[in-house]
Parts: sequence; C-alpha cells; structure tokens
Amino acid sequence: MIEQSILEITAELARARDIVIVPHKGPDGDAIGASLAMWHFLKDKGHNPQVIAPNNYPDFLKWLPGTEEVIIYENEQERSNQLIADADLVFTLDFNELNRAGIMVQPLIDSQAVFVMIDHHQEPTDYANHTYSDATMSSTCEMVYHFLEKLRAANHISPEIATCLYTGIMTDTGSFRFSSASSLTHRVVADLIDKGAENWKIHNKVFDTNSEKRMQLLGTALRNLKVLLEYKTAYISLSQEELDRHDFRKGDTDGFVNYGLALEGVIFAAIFIENKQDGIIKISFRSKGDFSVNAFARQNFEGGGHINAAGGKSDLSLKETLERFESLLPQYKDDLIL
Ligand code: 5GP
Ligand code: MN
Repeated sequence: MIEQSILEITAELARARDIVIVPHKGPDGDAIGASLAMWHFLKDKGHNPQVIAPNNYPDFLKWLPGTEEVIIYENEQERSNQLIADADLVFTLDFNELNRAGIMVQPLIDSQAVFVMIDHHQEPTDYANHTYSDATMSSTCEMVYHFLEKLRAANHISPEIATCLYTGIMTDTGSFRFSSASSLTHRVVADLIDKGAENWKIHNKVFDTNSEKRMQLLGTALRNLKVLLEYKTAYISLSQEELDRHDFRKGDTDGFVNYGLALEGVIFAAIFIENKQDGIIKISFRSKGDFSVNAFARQNFEGGGHINAAGGKSDLSLKETLERFESLLPQYKDDLIL
C-alpha cells in the first residue's frame, strides 16, 4: 500500500465516525479475527465501528473478544442495511471481489462510504477506494498488523487485538506450517504474544473444543478418503446424509481437507461436501509446492483462492462431481509434481 493511500486513509479516519467492517461470506478465523481486531482498534480510537458478517461463523470462533458485537446480516437485514447506508467508511477484509460478500453485495454497492480493502487473495478487483492487497501475505490478520504499523499505531495493539490477529494468522497458516508462514509472519506472531495473545489458550479454544459427534464425523470422512497416488491426489467426500447423521454444525468440517495432504506422496487434496439446502457441492482444495489450486478452482469449479488453498462449488450431484474431478486429473498430471 503506497504512502499516499495511508495519508488519505489517515485523513478519512480523522473524519469518520460510523464505520462498517465486512468479512467474507462463510467467515473463517482469518476473516473474523481481522474484523474483530479492526473493530477493537477503531472502538479504542473513539469511532463507532460495527462488524457485519454476511452469514454465521463457526462456534469455535465465538469466544473471540468482541464476538458478541458481530451482527449477522442474514438475521438482521434491515438494521444492517441502515448501518451500511449510514457508514462513512467501510473496511472489507479477507476478500478480493465484492460478490464474496454474498447477500450483502447490493447494499454495499449502494453505499456512499469510502471503501478500504485489506486482503491477501490473488487477482484483487478494484471496487475499493483504497486497496491494500498482498498475495504473499500469510493472512489478512498479518496484513492488519502491518496496516496498523503503517498507521503508526502498533503501540495501540491491545491484548484483545493481539488475540484476534493471532487467531487469524494461526488458522490461515494451518498453525504456522504452510509455506505462507514466513519469517516475518513469525516475527509478527512473536510480537502479538508480547502484546498479550496467550498462544496456548488460543490453540486450545480453536482446536481442542471438539464435540464427540465432530470427531465421529472426522472418522467417517477418513473412511471415505480416496487416494489416487498416480496423480499425487487424495480426496474426501461427505454426503448430506452423513453430515445429518453426525449433527453437522457449521465449522465441523474445517481442517478435514488437510488430512489428504498428510499422506506420503500426496500434494493435492480436496474435500467435497454436499449441501442439499443450497443445491451445491462445496469444495475445498489444498496443495503443496507449485501446483496452483487457485487456478484449478477457477478453471473447473467457479472458485478461487490462493496457490495452496482454494475453494469452489459444483451444481452436479455428489457422485457426478467426484467423477468429473477424477476425469480432470489426467490433464494436470504434468503439474502434479513436488
Ligand atoms: P476454504 O477451503 O478454507 O473454504 O477456502 C480456502 C480459500 O479459498 C480461502 O481463501 C477462501 O476465501 C477461498 N475460497 C473458498 N471458496 C471459494 C469460492 O467459492 N470462490 C472463491 N473465489 N474463493 C473461495
Ligand atoms: Mn484469509
């Protein structure tokens, strides 16, 4: 982000009172962590900020400081629309194209507010007045840290802000193990611990609060694992019936896709999750090395994301989707190398 933009955003912040903060649809730890960190920062500075998430987010994030302040657009549309219409400034966090805001797109388009995008996805679109985009960053939370540094506000990072940012960096880097977790990421994380993020407690709250049903769902997912070593690929599928049988709750399948990558010789993993209500198969892709799941998701499954983590969807049945996925692999064989 260029110095001029920082000067302009500083001037906007000096004027702005009502500020809306928007994470992407299906918010994850990074999107909610970044949004709540920004909320605390702006609140502490005397603004009137409001996080509005397009839809609900997983229970394992609902301990984050400030979580009770988040409005779910789906549940409070009228109030949300008013807040968006009244906003002087809108921060959109952790997404690169406006339609990732789901059903919030139209009120956002209608808004007269100044938009600031902070995001680490590839190929950002230019809907915002100020775009801070860096696809080399581990997470939007890491970028919010650097954004606060640029605003010369690093000394305003409270234990609450540090906790939110640590959570998002941790979840988006698979607990600091993906190649996106650079030495700089680790320096940021070290500073967040110094500023009050209690790292072991955060790990515990996010990863060690499973229900028995969720662990059993993981068992079912692992039994469904299909390994295609010829293509260094492994995938998992879960039908609606299997989800229902385990009292599926939002977030229960988060992280399952990574088990495919834990197999020796596998560099491309996917999970296919049937959603009868939306009439789609929601897909997550992960890879190791240079194989771009962003490109794969864009080319074949109306999705996108990052080189090593992306998502998409399919309107076919679960069975047809899996057949289609398998049939695509031969044409990528030369790229499926480590
Ligand atoms: P996840 O698999 O964890 O849902 O998502 C992995 C990454 O891909 C995230 O950065 C997410 O924002 C992105 N992503 C997931 N689903 C979609 C999608 O349908 N479209 C696009 N453009 N990105 C997606
Ligand atoms: Mn992210």
